[in-house]
Amino acid sequence: MFVEFLSVLSVAGETLIKIVPVTIALGVVFAALTHWSACNPGRPWWKKREIVTDVCYWFLIPLGARFVRIGLMVMGAALIFDIHGADALIKFYDNGFGLLAQMPLWAQALAFVTVSDFLLYWFHRWYHGAHLWKYHAVHHSSQELDWISAARFHPVNILFGTVLVDVALLLAGISPNVMLWVGPFTTASSAFVHANLNWTLGPFKYVIAGPVFHRWHHTAADRGGNMNFAGTFSLWDVLFGTFYMPENELPDAYGVNDKNFPEGFGGQLIYPFLQ
Ligand SMILES: [Zn+2]
Ligand SMILES: [Zn+2]
Repeated sequence: MFVEFLSVLSVAGETLIKIVPVTIALGVVFAALTHWSACNPGRPWWKKREIVTDVCYWFLIPLGARFVRIGLMVMGAALIFDIHGADALIKFYDNGFGLLAQMPLWAQALAFVTVSDFLLYWFHRWYHGAHLWKYHAVHHSSQELDWISAARFHPVNILFGTVLVDVALLLAGISPNVMLWVGPFTTASSAFVHANLNWTLGPFKYVIAGPVFHRWHHTAADRGGNMNFAGTFSLWDVLFGTFYMPENELPDAYGVNDKNFPEGFGGQLIYPFLQ
């Protein structure tokens, strides 16, 4: 038991050690870019209200997601492919399997990003429905939206969303080695779309999600709050009729329509269960 505890600690430590330099780099880059091209001029990200809440999510969500992902991968291999035991599991997941694993790694990474973004577009629309909104409202609760708000997701939203989609794609045969590229890409791109930047991406806005595109999604429901569901490819919103980027206008007010929404990490974790 003690050995297991130590290995959990070492995986947790490894994950945190990876996150720290990335966080510092993103913090410096976005502080500089926001200084020149803010969407909403004001105080810098580290002075924003609820910074402690966002920092908690930023470090704890990837850590929790990693353990749950590994747990689901073990369960999925056992239930679907009848594979048990550490050695058999390592062999099974080593380089993927089936037709998908025969593609070059870059093509697998591209397929992974495209298919998961498509699936997450629909998950996201589902979370905006009446039954699941209470979980997703946590993500929309940032009033001073910035790159560090990117990880603010309720664990239920992460589990029945990104984590489930990741595991489904790995169980479909895509090599886990794609995560070496896909992981940093999704971290950087989600930080980018939440950043306080006035970048519309010009004509590319119809294909790729940018800061102005996603910041509109964080406005009230009667503005852009029920539009722009894509995480990476705004093309899904163009194709399915949910694209919203009014000309010559920038989003300026964010958050949920509830003055009593909890601002702390713990309060937000229990919020959906009290509704
Ligand atoms: Zn949303
Ligand atoms: Zn967001």
